[in-house]
Amino acid sequence: MAKQLFIFLMLFIAFSSLNAQDTLHQQMINILKDHGMGEKSEVMEIASWITDVHGPRLTGSPGLERALVWAEETLNSWGMSNVHREAWAPFDRGWELQHFEMHAHSPQYWTVLAYPKAWSPSTKGTVSGEVVYLKVNDESDLENYRGKLKGKFVLMDTIRDVSEWMDPPASRYDSEDLLEMANATMPTPRPRNRNYNLSRFTLNRAIWKMLNEEKPHAVLDRSYKGDLGTIFVSGAVASGEESFRPYEKDAAVIPQATVSVEHYNRMLRLLSKNVPVKISMEIKARYTPVKEQYNLIAEIPGSDLADEVVIFGAHFDSWHTATGATDNGAGSAVMMETARLLLKGIEESGIKPRRTLRLALWTGEEQGLFGSRHYVKEHFDDTKPETLQKNKKVAAYYNLDNGTGKIRGVYLQGNEGAGTVFRQWLSAFSDLDANTLTLRNTGGTDHLPFDGVNIPGFQFIQDPIAYFNRTHHSNMDNWDHLIEEDLQQAATIIASFVWHTSQRDEILPRKPRRSEQ
Ligand SMILES: [Zn+2]
Repeated sequence: MAKQLFIFLMLFIAFSSLNAQDTLHQQMINILKDHGMGEKSEVMEIASWITDVHGPRLTGSPGLERALVWAEETLNSWGMSNVHREAWAPFDRGWELQHFEMHAHSPQYWTVLAYPKAWSPSTKGTVSGEVVYLKVNDESDLENYRGKLKGKFVLMDTIRDVSEWMDPPASRYDSEDLLEMANATMPTPRPRNRNYNLSRFTLNRAIWKMLNEEKPHAVLDRSYKGDLGTIFVSGAVASGEESFRPYEKDAAVIPQATVSVEHYNRMLRLLSKNVPVKISMEIKARYTPVKEQYNLIAEIPGSDLADEVVIFGAHFDSWHTATGATDNGAGSAVMMETARLLLKGIEESGIKPRRTLRLALWTGEEQGLFGSRHYVKEHFDDTKPETLQKNKKVAAYYNLDNGTGKIRGVYLQGNEGAGTVFRQWLSAFSDLDANTLTLRNTGGTDHLPFDGVNIPGFQFIQDPIAYFNRTHHSNMDNWDHLIEEDLQQAATIIASFVWHTSQRDEILPRKPRRSEQ
């Protein structure tokens, strides 16, 4: 009996100490919901400025610069503190598209649906000529084409079969998907070597070196996925000895465009019948000289724990063929709205945040998380004593970068301790479908550099909607594909997470360091 009573008391103490730290701040949650969910929300308007007015926001481009100026002015007008840019470098080459058209003239006229790849140079005015399929299996095949590509358009890809959409393109996670995530076990570190194909790399280098010497009018590939007018386009390939990156200083790049799968396949089918295909094209683009790029930082000052910080952010840059709405105008608009909601909450409740709340809008994410990596290295490197001190004062980093879908929970990145805390915080939003915690890792975006230096860094689980099959890096990534209620829900929940992280006595639990595991 005494033993049972003891256990009961211990459990009681354990729960009450958890509650003392992590009681829900209901008054604040009510204010956040009031401003975040419904007519008072500004998330769609913020998104429209980021996309319709200032999109696209390719890293290094004048468009991104204009969007940054707008965001700085907007954050200042709301009363955010310490709004400033932090430079990262090197980034040597901006790019802006000024005009593009492409037509087929033979065997019939048709308007070709295509987009220049980012950092493609201009063609010499309107150029026209026949298309040639470059069939290269090894380096010796290249000799078949030497001296024959000038004045031609080179097709690089094979035919890709298209099948019809029998299922709707957009979806939400169902209870089975979420249960599977919730039941996931602790992630194990992945082996480093991913079977890198060196011979393919060497062959590609040889192909691009030859193309750069032969100087065809342009190189054309097809959208690697998508159809029905949706084209997925990213950056051009450089022909340099050192790298394939087109934004590097003096990188040699020839004109390149991505063609819709249907039009590309048609050209290849015509060639297979020995029917010549003649096309014309004009690309007008300009490189803009840059030396560095900028992350945008803004704060809400803390009070008794002001030297500690809660960071929330998203990448502000995008690809170039649409306006970067779901990738990542959505995340950027949600994080800006989160800041605005927190300001409202502070104003209406009269309660000050304990820790400093810091919004970060990153750039260079699409080229390799350049902005956030640089920021973390500069401020929070855990191998240097000065920055390790600052690292220990980061309570958490929250990121949003998986499209327009509402939040269904959190990827814990293997941080079990944080899960216990989040369970409590999510209970305030059980009516908004955000209930799932998974130990699973998710990758590919700006929480990774934080996780890499053992700062609790999280990306939220979001409904997929049509992100991966329609909008992510495509010409259809436009404002129209944002879902208002979903972005409102995300901003409200993230604002609550940031607030609760700020007000607890301790920073969030950290994972045991690798050496301690
Ligand atoms: Zn993204």
